[in-house]
Amino acid sequence: MLRNDQLAQWDRENFFHPSTHLAQHARGETQTRVIKSASGSYIEDREGRKMLDAFAGLYCVNVGYGRQEIAEAIGDQAKELAYYHSYVGHGTEASITLSKMILDRAPANMSKVYFGLSGSDANETNIKLIWYYNNILGRPEKKRIISRWRGYHGSGLVTGSLTGLKLFHKKFDLPVEQVIHTQAPYYFRRDDLNQSEEEFVAHCVAELEALIEREGADTIAAFIGEPVLGTGGIVPPPAGYWPAIQAVLKKHDILLVADEVVTGFGRLGSMFGADHYGLEADIITIAKGLTSAYAPLSGSIISEKLWKVLEQGTDENGPIGHGWTYSAHPIGAAAGVANLKLLDDLKLIQNASSVGAYLNTSMKEALGDHANVGDIRGEGMLCAVEFVEDRQDRKFFEASQKIGAQLSATLLSQDSVIARAMPQGDILGFAPPFCLGREEADIIVASTARAVKTVLG
Ligand code: PLP
Repeated sequence: MLRNDQLAQWDRENFFHPSTHLAQHARGETQTRVIKSASGSYIEDREGRKMLDAFAGLYCVNVGYGRQEIAEAIGDQAKELAYYHSYVGHGTEASITLSKMILDRAPANMSKVYFGLSGSDANETNIKLIWYYNNILGRPEKKRIISRWRGYHGSGLVTGSLTGLKLFHKKFDLPVEQVIHTQAPYYFRRDDLNQSEEEFVAHCVAELEALIEREGADTIAAFIGEPVLGTGGIVPPPAGYWPAIQAVLKKHDILLVADEVVTGFGRLGSMFGADHYGLEADIITIAKGLTSAYAPLSGSIISEKLWKVLEQGTDENGPIGHGWTYSAHPIGAAAGVANLKLLDDLKLIQNASSVGAYLNTSMKEALGDHANVGDIRGEGMLCAVEFVEDRQDRKFFEASQKIGAQLSATLLSQDSVIARAMPQGDILGFAPPFCLGREEADIIVASTARAVKTVLG
Protein backbone atom coordinates (compact mmCIF):
# COMPACT_ATOMS: atom_id res chain seq x y z
CA MET A 1 0.00 0.00 0.00
CA LEU A 2 1.26 3.48 -0.84
CA ARG A 3 2.39 5.69 2.02
CA ASN A 4 0.42 8.85 2.75
CA ASP A 5 3.44 11.12 2.19
CA GLN A 6 4.03 9.47 -1.19
CA LEU A 7 0.43 10.16 -2.21
CA ALA A 8 0.67 13.77 -1.00
CA GLN A 9 3.78 14.28 -3.11
CA TRP A 10 2.23 12.75 -6.24
CA ASP A 11 -0.87 14.83 -5.60
CA ARG A 12 1.09 18.09 -5.55
CA GLU A 13 3.11 17.08 -8.60
CA ASN A 14 0.32 15.78 -10.82
CA PHE A 15 -3.20 16.62 -9.75
CA PHE A 16 -5.02 19.80 -10.90
CA HIS A 17 -7.76 20.14 -8.28
CA PRO A 18 -10.96 22.08 -9.01
CA SER A 19 -11.81 25.16 -6.93
CA THR A 20 -8.39 25.19 -5.30
CA HIS A 21 -5.65 27.79 -4.75
CA LEU A 22 -3.33 26.10 -7.22
CA ALA A 23 -0.09 27.80 -6.27
CA GLN A 24 -0.52 27.28 -2.53
CA HIS A 25 -1.42 23.65 -3.05
CA ALA A 26 1.54 22.98 -5.35
CA ARG A 27 3.84 24.56 -2.76
CA GLY A 28 2.42 22.27 -0.08
CA GLU A 29 0.88 25.15 1.89
CA THR A 30 -2.54 23.51 1.81
CA GLN A 31 -3.17 20.00 2.94
CA THR A 32 -3.82 16.98 0.77
CA ARG A 33 -6.62 15.03 2.36
CA VAL A 34 -7.04 11.52 1.02
CA ILE A 35 -10.47 10.09 1.76
CA LYS A 36 -10.55 6.35 2.01
CA SER A 37 -13.97 5.06 3.00
CA ALA A 38 -17.37 6.13 4.22
CA SER A 39 -20.55 4.87 5.82
CA GLY A 40 -23.84 6.58 6.67
CA SER A 41 -23.06 10.23 7.42
CA TYR A 42 -19.35 9.66 8.14
CA ILE A 43 -16.26 9.64 5.94
CA GLU A 44 -12.82 8.41 6.94
CA ASP A 45 -9.43 9.55 5.68
CA ARG A 46 -6.29 7.49 5.20
CA GLU A 47 -4.98 8.49 8.57
CA GLY A 48 -7.98 6.82 10.17
CA ARG A 49 -9.76 10.02 11.08
CA LYS A 50 -13.55 9.76 11.03
CA MET A 51 -15.50 12.90 10.14
CA LEU A 52 -19.21 13.66 10.27
CA ASP A 53 -19.95 14.94 6.78
CA ALA A 54 -22.59 17.60 7.35
CA PHE A 55 -22.40 18.64 3.69
CA ALA A 56 -22.93 15.17 2.12
CA GLY A 57 -19.90 15.62 -0.16
CA LEU A 58 -21.08 18.59 -2.23
CA TYR A 59 -24.70 18.23 -1.11
CA CYS A 60 -25.03 15.15 -3.21
CA VAL A 61 -24.68 11.92 -1.20
CA ASN A 62 -28.32 12.19 -0.23
CA VAL A 63 -28.99 8.56 0.74
CA GLY A 64 -25.77 8.45 2.76
CA TYR A 65 -22.51 6.61 2.16
CA GLY A 66 -21.92 2.88 1.85
CA ARG A 67 -25.28 1.82 0.39
CA GLN A 68 -24.69 -1.74 -0.78
CA GLU A 69 -27.90 -1.80 -2.85
CA ILE A 70 -26.51 0.91 -5.14
CA ALA A 71 -23.01 -0.56 -5.20
CA GLU A 72 -24.46 -3.93 -6.23
CA ALA A 73 -26.64 -2.37 -8.94
CA ILE A 74 -23.54 -0.64 -10.35
CA GLY A 75 -21.49 -3.84 -10.16
CA ASP A 76 -24.19 -5.96 -11.80
CA GLN A 77 -24.62 -3.41 -14.58
CA ALA A 78 -20.87 -3.18 -15.19
CA LYS A 79 -20.61 -6.96 -15.45
CA GLU A 80 -23.59 -7.38 -17.75
CA LEU A 81 -23.19 -4.27 -19.93
CA ALA A 82 -20.73 -1.57 -18.91
CA TYR A 83 -21.57 0.65 -21.84
CA TYR A 84 -23.65 1.18 -24.84
CA HIS A 85 -24.63 4.55 -26.30
CA SER A 86 -28.09 6.04 -26.40
CA TYR A 87 -27.93 7.67 -29.85
CA VAL A 88 -30.61 6.99 -32.50
CA GLY A 89 -33.04 5.23 -30.23
CA HIS A 90 -30.70 2.94 -28.29
CA GLY A 91 -31.21 2.38 -24.59
CA THR A 92 -30.79 -0.07 -21.76
CA GLU A 93 -33.24 -1.44 -19.26
CA ALA A 94 -31.71 0.87 -16.64
CA SER A 95 -31.85 4.07 -18.69
CA ILE A 96 -35.42 3.49 -19.91
CA THR A 97 -36.62 2.49 -16.44
CA LEU A 98 -34.95 5.51 -14.87
CA SER A 99 -36.54 7.93 -17.34
CA LYS A 100 -39.95 6.54 -16.37
CA MET A 101 -39.15 6.73 -12.64
CA ILE A 102 -38.12 10.38 -13.02
CA LEU A 103 -41.23 11.33 -14.98
CA ASP A 104 -43.44 9.48 -12.48
CA ARG A 105 -42.01 11.76 -9.77
CA ALA A 106 -41.81 15.01 -11.76
CA PRO A 107 -44.50 17.71 -11.99
CA ALA A 108 -47.40 16.84 -14.30
CA ASN A 109 -46.41 19.19 -17.15
CA MET A 110 -43.11 17.37 -17.70
CA SER A 111 -42.71 15.06 -20.68
CA LYS A 112 -39.19 13.65 -21.34
CA VAL A 113 -35.75 13.46 -19.80
CA TYR A 114 -32.41 13.99 -21.56
CA PHE A 115 -29.49 12.49 -19.63
CA GLY A 116 -26.08 14.07 -19.15
CA LEU A 117 -23.30 13.63 -16.63
CA SER A 118 -23.09 16.79 -14.54
CA GLY A 119 -25.24 19.70 -13.49
CA SER A 120 -23.10 21.95 -15.68
CA ASP A 121 -23.62 19.96 -18.86
CA ALA A 122 -27.35 19.62 -18.13
CA ASN A 123 -27.67 23.40 -17.95
CA GLU A 124 -25.62 23.78 -21.14
CA THR A 125 -28.11 21.38 -22.79
CA ASN A 126 -31.00 23.45 -21.46
CA ILE A 127 -29.73 26.68 -22.95
CA LYS A 128 -29.09 25.03 -26.33
CA LEU A 129 -32.59 23.54 -26.35
CA ILE A 130 -34.08 26.92 -25.48
CA TRP A 131 -32.23 28.58 -28.35
CA TYR A 132 -33.33 25.78 -30.69
CA TYR A 133 -36.93 26.18 -29.45
CA ASN A 134 -37.02 29.88 -30.26
CA ASN A 135 -35.43 29.32 -33.65
CA ILE A 136 -38.08 26.74 -34.51
CA LEU A 137 -40.76 29.19 -33.38
CA GLY A 138 -39.24 31.82 -35.70
CA ARG A 139 -38.00 34.10 -32.91
CA PRO A 140 -34.25 34.24 -33.57
CA GLU A 141 -33.81 37.38 -31.46
CA LYS A 142 -35.31 35.83 -28.30
CA LYS A 143 -32.11 34.31 -26.89
CA ARG A 144 -30.84 36.02 -23.77
CA ILE A 145 -31.02 34.29 -20.42
CA ILE A 146 -31.66 35.98 -17.09
CA SER A 147 -29.99 34.52 -14.05
CA ARG A 148 -29.67 35.86 -10.50
CA TRP A 149 -26.61 37.24 -8.77
CA ARG A 150 -25.43 34.52 -6.38
CA GLY A 151 -27.14 31.82 -8.43
CA TYR A 152 -25.00 28.74 -9.12
CA HIS A 153 -25.55 26.83 -12.35
CA GLY A 154 -22.19 25.28 -13.13
CA SER A 155 -18.79 26.33 -14.41
CA GLY A 156 -18.83 25.82 -18.18
CA LEU A 157 -18.81 28.74 -20.63
CA VAL A 158 -22.51 29.48 -20.57
CA THR A 159 -23.20 27.92 -17.18
CA GLY A 160 -20.24 29.69 -15.58
CA SER A 161 -21.83 32.84 -16.99
CA LEU A 162 -25.21 31.96 -15.52
CA THR A 163 -23.51 31.46 -12.17
CA GLY A 164 -23.72 34.82 -10.43
CA LEU A 165 -20.65 34.52 -8.21
CA LYS A 166 -17.71 36.76 -8.94
CA LEU A 167 -15.02 34.12 -8.44
CA PHE A 168 -16.47 32.10 -11.31
CA HIS A 169 -16.22 35.03 -13.74
CA LYS A 170 -12.98 36.67 -12.70
CA LYS A 171 -10.25 36.38 -15.38
CA PHE A 172 -12.34 33.94 -17.44
CA ASP A 173 -13.92 36.64 -19.64
CA LEU A 174 -17.34 35.69 -18.31
CA PRO A 175 -20.24 36.27 -18.36
CA VAL A 176 -20.85 35.81 -22.09
CA GLU A 177 -23.07 38.49 -23.56
CA GLN A 178 -26.19 36.32 -23.83
CA VAL A 179 -26.43 36.13 -20.04
CA ILE A 180 -27.73 38.93 -17.83
CA HIS A 181 -28.19 38.99 -14.07
CA THR A 182 -30.86 40.29 -11.76
CA GLN A 183 -31.34 40.70 -8.01
CA ALA A 184 -30.96 37.66 -5.74
CA PRO A 185 -33.97 36.99 -3.47
CA TYR A 186 -31.71 37.35 -0.43
CA TYR A 187 -33.76 39.19 2.16
CA PHE A 188 -31.04 39.25 4.81
CA ARG A 189 -28.74 41.13 2.38
CA ARG A 190 -31.35 43.63 1.17
CA ASP A 191 -29.97 47.15 0.60
CA ASP A 192 -32.76 48.86 2.49
CA LEU A 193 -32.90 47.47 6.02
CA ASN A 194 -36.32 49.04 6.59
CA GLN A 195 -37.91 46.93 3.85
CA SER A 196 -40.42 44.27 4.94
CA GLU A 197 -40.19 40.86 3.29
CA GLU A 198 -43.20 41.74 1.17
CA GLU A 199 -41.67 45.03 0.08
CA PHE A 200 -38.42 43.25 -0.75
CA VAL A 201 -40.27 40.78 -3.00
CA ALA A 202 -41.95 43.72 -4.74
CA HIS A 203 -38.48 45.24 -5.18
CA CYS A 204 -37.10 42.00 -6.77
CA VAL A 205 -40.08 41.88 -9.11
CA ALA A 206 -39.65 45.56 -10.05
CA GLU A 207 -35.94 44.94 -10.78
CA LEU A 208 -36.84 42.05 -13.06
CA GLU A 209 -39.54 44.08 -14.83
CA ALA A 210 -37.10 46.93 -15.34
CA LEU A 211 -34.45 44.60 -16.77
CA ILE A 212 -36.95 43.06 -19.20
CA GLU A 213 -38.15 46.52 -20.18
CA ARG A 214 -34.58 47.72 -20.74
CA GLU A 215 -33.49 44.72 -22.83
CA GLY A 216 -36.83 44.11 -24.58
CA ALA A 217 -38.93 41.00 -23.84
CA ASP A 218 -38.49 39.85 -27.44
CA THR A 219 -34.74 39.37 -26.75
CA ILE A 220 -35.16 37.32 -23.58
CA ALA A 221 -35.68 33.58 -23.86
CA ALA A 222 -35.53 32.28 -20.31
CA PHE A 223 -35.00 32.85 -16.62
CA ILE A 224 -33.02 30.31 -14.61
CA GLY A 225 -33.11 29.96 -10.85
CA GLU A 226 -32.57 27.50 -8.05
CA PRO A 227 -35.75 27.12 -5.96
CA VAL A 228 -33.49 27.79 -2.94
CA LEU A 229 -30.23 29.61 -3.68
CA GLY A 230 -27.52 27.06 -2.91
CA THR A 231 -23.84 27.87 -3.33
CA GLY A 232 -24.72 31.58 -3.23
CA GLY A 233 -25.49 31.21 0.48
CA ILE A 234 -28.27 28.62 1.07
CA VAL A 235 -31.09 31.16 0.93
CA PRO A 236 -34.74 30.09 0.84
CA PRO A 237 -36.83 32.64 -1.07
CA PRO A 238 -38.96 35.14 0.80
CA ALA A 239 -42.68 34.24 0.92
CA GLY A 240 -44.45 35.01 -2.33
CA TYR A 241 -41.25 35.40 -4.39
CA TRP A 242 -41.74 32.55 -6.85
CA PRO A 243 -45.42 33.17 -7.71
CA ALA A 244 -44.65 36.86 -8.30
CA ILE A 245 -41.61 36.12 -10.50
CA GLN A 246 -43.47 33.44 -12.43
CA ALA A 247 -46.30 35.88 -13.20
CA VAL A 248 -43.80 38.33 -14.78
CA LEU A 249 -42.20 35.56 -16.85
CA LYS A 250 -45.55 34.33 -18.13
CA LYS A 251 -46.58 37.86 -19.07
CA HIS A 252 -43.47 38.23 -21.26
CA ASP A 253 -43.44 34.67 -22.64
CA ILE A 254 -40.10 33.91 -20.95
CA LEU A 255 -39.37 30.27 -20.14
CA LEU A 256 -38.52 29.20 -16.59
CA VAL A 257 -35.68 26.76 -15.91
CA ALA A 258 -35.81 25.43 -12.35
CA ASP A 259 -32.27 24.36 -11.52
CA GLU A 260 -32.95 21.55 -9.07
CA VAL A 261 -29.46 20.07 -9.04
CA VAL A 262 -29.43 20.54 -5.27
CA THR A 263 -33.15 20.57 -4.48
CA GLY A 264 -34.31 17.72 -6.76
CA PHE A 265 -35.20 14.37 -5.18
CA GLY A 266 -35.95 15.50 -1.68
CA ARG A 267 -33.44 17.99 -0.31
CA LEU A 268 -36.28 20.39 0.67
CA GLY A 269 -38.41 17.59 2.11
CA SER A 270 -40.48 17.49 -1.11
CA MET A 271 -39.61 15.52 -4.23
CA PHE A 272 -38.90 18.73 -6.19
CA GLY A 273 -38.50 22.38 -5.27
CA ALA A 274 -41.02 23.10 -8.04
CA ASP A 275 -43.67 21.22 -6.02
CA HIS A 276 -42.44 22.82 -2.82
CA TYR A 277 -42.95 26.38 -4.08
CA GLY A 278 -45.74 25.77 -6.63
CA LEU A 279 -43.54 26.57 -9.64
CA GLU A 280 -44.48 25.60 -13.15
CA ALA A 281 -41.09 25.17 -14.79
CA ASP A 282 -40.52 24.57 -18.50
CA ILE A 283 -37.30 22.65 -17.82
CA ILE A 284 -36.01 21.13 -14.58
CA THR A 285 -32.28 20.46 -14.17
CA ILE A 286 -31.36 17.42 -12.08
CA ALA A 287 -28.05 15.85 -11.07
CA LYS A 288 -26.61 15.23 -7.60
CA GLY A 289 -29.59 13.59 -5.85
CA LEU A 290 -30.48 11.55 -8.95
CA THR A 291 -27.81 8.99 -8.09
CA SER A 292 -26.75 10.38 -4.70
CA ALA A 293 -23.38 10.77 -6.47
CA TYR A 294 -22.73 7.01 -6.59
CA ALA A 295 -22.13 7.58 -10.31
CA PRO A 296 -22.12 10.76 -12.41
CA LEU A 297 -25.50 11.38 -14.01
CA SER A 298 -27.61 14.45 -14.68
CA GLY A 299 -30.75 15.24 -16.58
CA SER A 300 -32.85 17.91 -18.22
CA ILE A 301 -36.53 17.23 -17.66
CA ILE A 302 -38.39 18.84 -20.54
CA SER A 303 -41.99 19.99 -20.43
CA GLU A 304 -44.58 18.91 -22.98
CA LYS A 305 -44.72 22.51 -24.24
CA LEU A 306 -41.03 22.41 -25.23
CA TRP A 307 -41.10 18.82 -26.36
CA LYS A 308 -43.77 19.51 -29.00
CA VAL A 309 -41.58 22.20 -30.53
CA LEU A 310 -38.49 19.95 -30.42
CA GLU A 311 -40.45 17.30 -32.33
CA GLN A 312 -41.51 19.89 -34.87
CA GLY A 313 -37.86 20.94 -35.14
CA THR A 314 -36.67 17.47 -36.05
CA ASP A 315 -39.49 17.02 -38.55
CA GLU A 316 -38.29 20.20 -40.22
CA ASN A 317 -34.51 19.81 -39.79
CA GLY A 318 -33.64 16.18 -39.19
CA PRO A 319 -32.23 14.58 -36.02
CA ILE A 320 -31.32 16.87 -33.17
CA GLY A 321 -27.60 17.64 -33.29
CA HIS A 322 -26.95 17.24 -29.61
CA GLY A 323 -25.56 14.31 -27.62
CA TRP A 324 -22.71 13.12 -25.41
CA THR A 325 -20.97 9.74 -25.69
CA TYR A 326 -21.94 9.10 -22.09
CA SER A 327 -25.57 10.35 -22.23
CA ALA A 328 -27.66 7.86 -20.22
CA HIS A 329 -24.57 5.84 -19.30
CA PRO A 330 -25.88 2.44 -18.15
CA ILE A 331 -23.83 2.46 -14.93
CA GLY A 332 -25.14 5.89 -13.92
CA ALA A 333 -28.66 4.86 -14.85
CA ALA A 334 -28.42 1.66 -12.78
CA ALA A 335 -27.22 3.75 -9.84
CA GLY A 336 -30.15 6.14 -10.35
CA VAL A 337 -32.75 3.35 -10.36
CA ALA A 338 -31.33 1.84 -7.14
CA ASN A 339 -31.01 5.26 -5.52
CA LEU A 340 -34.60 6.38 -6.22
CA LYS A 341 -35.86 3.04 -4.98
CA LEU A 342 -33.89 3.42 -1.77
CA LEU A 343 -35.25 6.92 -1.20
CA ASP A 344 -38.77 5.44 -1.31
CA ASP A 345 -38.10 2.20 0.57
CA LEU A 346 -36.40 3.91 3.51
CA LYS A 347 -38.66 6.97 3.46
CA LEU A 348 -35.57 9.13 3.36
CA ILE A 349 -37.31 12.26 2.10
CA GLN A 350 -39.61 12.18 5.13
CA ASN A 351 -36.54 11.83 7.33
CA ALA A 352 -34.86 14.76 5.56
CA SER A 353 -37.92 16.84 6.31
CA SER A 354 -38.23 15.97 10.01
CA VAL A 355 -34.55 15.79 10.98
CA GLY A 356 -33.85 18.86 8.82
CA ALA A 357 -36.49 20.81 10.76
CA TYR A 358 -34.96 19.57 14.00
CA LEU A 359 -31.46 20.63 12.87
CA ASN A 360 -32.69 24.12 11.97
CA THR A 361 -34.61 24.58 15.23
CA SER A 362 -31.68 23.32 17.31
CA MET A 363 -29.24 25.60 15.47
CA LYS A 364 -31.48 28.60 16.22
CA GLU A 365 -31.73 27.61 19.88
CA ALA A 366 -27.96 27.21 20.20
CA LEU A 367 -26.78 30.22 18.20
CA GLY A 368 -29.74 32.53 17.62
CA ASP A 369 -28.66 34.98 20.32
CA HIS A 370 -24.95 35.12 19.54
CA ALA A 371 -23.72 38.67 18.92
CA ASN A 372 -22.06 37.66 15.61
CA VAL A 373 -24.86 35.56 14.20
CA GLY A 374 -26.88 37.64 11.77
CA ASP A 375 -29.15 35.00 10.28
CA ILE A 376 -29.99 31.31 10.60
CA ARG A 377 -32.07 29.95 7.78
CA GLY A 378 -32.94 26.71 6.07
CA GLU A 379 -35.48 24.51 4.39
CA GLY A 380 -35.72 20.72 4.55
CA MET A 381 -32.24 19.25 5.04
CA LEU A 382 -30.49 22.56 4.34
CA CYS A 383 -29.30 25.00 6.96
CA ALA A 384 -27.06 28.07 6.93
CA VAL A 385 -25.65 30.32 9.61
CA GLU A 386 -24.50 33.76 8.47
CA PHE A 387 -22.01 35.71 10.56
CA VAL A 388 -21.70 39.48 10.96
CA GLU A 389 -19.36 41.78 12.81
CA ASP A 390 -22.27 43.68 14.29
CA ARG A 391 -25.81 42.37 14.17
CA GLN A 392 -27.43 45.66 15.25
CA ASP A 393 -26.66 47.43 11.98
CA ARG A 394 -25.87 44.21 10.03
CA LYS A 395 -22.23 45.13 9.48
CA PHE A 396 -20.42 42.35 7.62
CA PHE A 397 -16.87 41.25 8.42
CA GLU A 398 -14.09 42.28 6.05
CA ALA A 399 -13.68 39.46 3.52
CA SER A 400 -9.93 39.36 4.29
CA GLN A 401 -10.71 38.12 7.82
CA LYS A 402 -12.06 34.88 6.26
CA ILE A 403 -14.35 34.25 9.22
CA GLY A 404 -16.39 31.60 7.41
CA ALA A 405 -13.26 29.65 6.43
CA GLN A 406 -11.86 29.93 9.95
CA LEU A 407 -15.11 28.59 11.39
CA SER A 408 -15.27 25.59 9.07
CA ALA A 409 -11.58 24.80 9.71
CA THR A 410 -12.12 25.02 13.48
CA LEU A 411 -15.23 22.84 13.31
CA LEU A 412 -13.21 20.22 11.51
CA SER A 413 -10.10 20.41 13.70
CA GLN A 414 -11.96 20.49 17.02
CA ASP A 415 -14.80 18.05 16.44
CA SER A 416 -14.25 16.42 13.04
CA VAL A 417 -17.46 17.88 11.61
CA ILE A 418 -17.51 19.02 7.98
CA ALA A 419 -19.56 22.11 7.12
CA ARG A 420 -18.95 24.23 4.04
CA ALA A 421 -17.73 27.81 4.17
CA MET A 422 -19.88 29.16 1.35
CA PRO A 423 -17.82 31.06 -1.24
CA GLN A 424 -19.27 34.59 -0.95
CA GLY A 425 -19.80 35.93 2.58
CA ASP A 426 -19.20 34.44 6.03
CA ILE A 427 -21.73 31.66 5.83
CA LEU A 428 -21.49 28.14 7.20
CA GLY A 429 -23.57 25.76 5.12
CA PHE A 430 -25.01 22.44 6.26
CA ALA A 431 -26.57 19.89 3.90
CA PRO A 432 -26.21 16.49 5.55
CA PRO A 433 -27.32 13.18 4.06
CA PHE A 434 -31.04 12.49 4.41
CA CYS A 435 -30.35 9.54 6.71
CA LEU A 436 -29.00 11.88 9.42
CA GLY A 437 -30.23 10.93 12.91
CA ARG A 438 -31.21 13.40 15.63
CA GLU A 439 -28.12 12.47 17.69
CA GLU A 440 -25.96 13.38 14.70
CA ALA A 441 -27.86 16.66 14.30
CA ASP A 442 -27.09 17.32 17.98
CA ILE A 443 -23.39 16.72 17.34
CA ILE A 444 -23.42 19.14 14.40
CA VAL A 445 -25.09 21.87 16.45
CA ALA A 446 -22.96 21.44 19.59
CA SER A 447 -19.75 21.35 17.52
CA THR A 448 -20.77 24.45 15.58
CA ALA A 449 -21.50 26.33 18.81
CA ARG A 450 -18.08 25.30 20.13
CA ALA A 451 -16.32 26.45 16.94
CA VAL A 452 -18.16 29.78 17.06
CA LYS A 453 -17.03 30.24 20.68
CA THR A 454 -13.42 29.45 19.75
CA VAL A 455 -13.29 31.83 16.77
CA LEU A 456 -15.62 34.64 17.83
CA GLY A 457 -15.97 34.27 21.60
N1 PLP B 1 -26.66 23.74 -10.55
C1 PLP B 1 -26.64 23.82 -9.22
C2 PLP B 1 -27.82 24.38 -8.51
C3 PLP B 1 -25.54 23.36 -8.50
O1 PLP B 1 -25.50 23.47 -7.17
C4 PLP B 1 -24.46 22.80 -9.21
C5 PLP B 1 -23.27 22.29 -8.48
O2 PLP B 1 -23.12 22.47 -7.31
C6 PLP B 1 -24.52 22.76 -10.60
C7 PLP B 1 -25.64 23.23 -11.24
C8 PLP B 1 -23.39 22.22 -11.39
O3 PLP B 1 -23.29 20.87 -11.22
P1 PLP B 1 -21.90 20.09 -11.55
O4 PLP B 1 -20.93 20.55 -10.51
O5 PLP B 1 -22.31 18.66 -11.45
O6 PLP B 1 -21.51 20.48 -12.90
